[in-house]
Amino acid sequence: MDQVLKDNPSHSRSDVVVLIDADNTLWDTNAVYVAARQCLLDEIRSALGTQVCVQVRSRDLHAIDEAIYRLHKKRYLYPPRFLARAVALVLIGEDVQSAAKKSLRGSKVESELMSESEIAKRYTRSIEFSTPHLRRGVKTGMRLLRKSSCQRIVLTEGSVRRVQRLLDHYGFSVCVNHVQSLNKSREAFDDLSRSFGDRGAQLYIIGDSLERDIAPAKAASIRTVHFPGGFRPAQRCNVVPDYTINSFLAGVKIINFRE
Ligand SMILES: [Mg+2]
Repeated sequence: MDQVLKDNPSHSRSDVVVLIDADNTLWDTNAVYVAARQCLLDEIRSALGTQVCVQVRSRDLHAIDEAIYRLHKKRYLYPPRFLARAVALVLIGEDVQSAAKKSLRGSKVESELMSESEIAKRYTRSIEFSTPHLRRGVKTGMRLLRKSSCQRIVLTEGSVRRVQRLLDHYGFSVCVNHVQSLNKSREAFDDLSRSFGDRGAQLYIIGDSLERDIAPAKAASIRTVHFPGGFRPAQRCNVVPDYTINSFLAGVKIINFRE
């Protein structure tokens, strides 16, 4: 590890800005969501009792979450009561897409035992206070980044407070300059690109999602480093990243040692 840290390039990296996706890139958030959704399903199934007529599996929960995300303007920040409602609707026989739409329109499964707001609160708390495992090469990669003079900005579409807590927990707060909440659209990356590009900086992004990190960033002329993770969207994205890595450290080295 120490050898890696000695391997810093002699030339300055102050003209480089590294955008680092947080969830599923630095840590395995997917596993946290899978566990939280399973708890939510168990609670709702238990509350609905004999009304349940369909078996719902983990992949169905993922599909329900994706369907709501695609329909809601707040994307992954949609209120979890919609997930609870949609899961209940699927459990009584509604198909996933229809359940997502009905959930957003306010349709509910009537049950005295099911408190949608309580289930949603517990779901949010379990995600907010969980500590996901770091992904491969993150610890060493962050140490290497800290020694570089490049600017390091961590991006999240979720809670900045949660990301900051995890950075503190892992001792990474000193490794980053800023945590930014960002709706990862082409326009948002264009704004970042203009903001830093006008100062002559080259922007890179390291992210796990082809659809949410790589495609919109590449469209904004940001160099893209794809670090595939456990999160697999239902719809395929065919964008080709500039680099693909199997360890966060490999991505940092690419950026640090580029010509
Ligand atoms: Mg991600």
